[in-house]
Amino acid sequence: KPVVAIVGRPNVGKSTIFNRIVGDRVSIVEDIPGVTRDRIYSAAEWLTHDFNIIDTGGIDIGDEPFLDQIRQQAEIAIDEADVIIFLTNGREGVTAADEEVAKILYKAKKPVVLAVNKIDNPEMREQIYDFYSLGFGEPFPISGAHGLGLGDLLDEAAKHFPKDEGDHYDPDTIKFSLIGRPNVGKSSLVNAILGEERVIVSNIAGTTRDAIDSMVTVNGQKYVIIDTAGMRKKGKVYESTEKYSVLRALRAIERSDVVLVVLDGEEGIIEQDKKIAGYAHEAGRAVVIVVNKWDAVEKDEKTMKDFEQKIRDHFLFLDYAPIVFLSALTKKRIHTLVPMIDMASENHMRRVETSVLNDVIMDAVAMNPTPTDKGKRLKIYYATQVAVGPPTFVVFVNDPELMHFSYQRFLENRIRDAFGFEGTPIKIFARER
Ligand code: GDP
Repeated sequence: KPVVAIVGRPNVGKSTIFNRIVGDRVSIVEDIPGVTRDRIYSAAEWLTHDFNIIDTGGIDIGDEPFLDQIRQQAEIAIDEADVIIFLTNGREGVTAADEEVAKILYKAKKPVVLAVNKIDNPEMREQIYDFYSLGFGEPFPISGAHGLGLGDLLDEAAKHFPKDEGDHYDPDTIKFSLIGRPNVGKSSLVNAILGEERVIVSNIAGTTRDAIDSMVTVNGQKYVIIDTAGMRKKGKVYESTEKYSVLRALRAIERSDVVLVVLDGEEGIIEQDKKIAGYAHEAGRAVVIVVNKWDAVEKDEKTMKDFEQKIRDHFLFLDYAPIVFLSALTKKRIHTLVPMIDMASENHMRRVETSVLNDVIMDAVAMNPTPTDKGKRLKIYYATQVAVGPPTFVVFVNDPELMHFSYQRFLENRIRDAFGFEGTPIKIFARER
């Protein structure tokens, strides 16, 4: 999906505009318990345009001087976005800080659309003429408070969306990414997987970004490893910005079929690992948990079981994800990883037969009667699989309100028991027949 970033000095209304555009949509960043509440990145749609949007104002740069913060946020936008919305405040006119932002954006080879916020009524339109001096052409008057002008602004932004969306890999190529906090060994793992077999490092046709994917063929199956957070940009000034790495991780997750959540076996699990794992789960991708640096752990016969239990306790939502213990350094058990990726990917794309599915559902209902509410009992008529990637099921019922979370969870478990689906989340929706 194309990425739009909103950039501007503080107090021009970036978050208001962001929330307006995103609307009620639950952004990826917000929806996961324990994950940062800031809506800094979200999917959004406007008429026929489907895109992702970043509020750079939500990216916390830390205690740096004001101008440095603005500069870094602008750099992040330039790096990440296909189109930049440069937001200013019509009530205050052009300020020195606006000019600073403009200077940074001049250097970007990305399209910039200039928006003048807080133009709450037509009489105020006069205010926009000053803003021509910023050098980004016609300023678009908008009002975040009243939701005015956003349509024209986004239409303009959409004119600059890359024409050719997506990548051009064979459909049977398995795309995967490695996510994890810094230093867990992601780069080392990529190198260990690629080994001598590293084939092509290529720019993907059709994307404007500097995405670099590595391709490798193992036993005739093609894989693409998608670049993730910080793997190739070490040393940049904002590399330390955690939320920025999150943006890159989310983008990589979005393009992946399978996400490897990498943990550090030596250091154990910390809160940050949980957040990162949450992103993978929330995106509905297949997940394999990789415990790296297992060579550095002093072990007895219980160590692996204990660690596994810790993972299960910490990542309750990832109960479907298989766990692989290995070492990128010594390459021990590295060979077990690719078969896991294959398995997870296969399950992610698996379709089950409707008749078998319905047998499973009816057996489940016979075993554990459907819930009742205010004297009304949930009736299940039939179920069908409506999608893959992840497998998604619709259960037709008399009243979807009666489908309690716990019963849904029960059905999910029965489906899992019957069909496996190891490595992939599955989704169930109740619909009225
Ligand atoms: P990234 O930030 O997640 O990409 O992590 P790196 O791949 O740069 O690795 C971070 C550090 O951990 C480096 O010093 C690696 O040599 C070390 N490391 C990576 N994998 C292993 C491993 O399997 N065992 C041990 N003992 N060290 C490892």
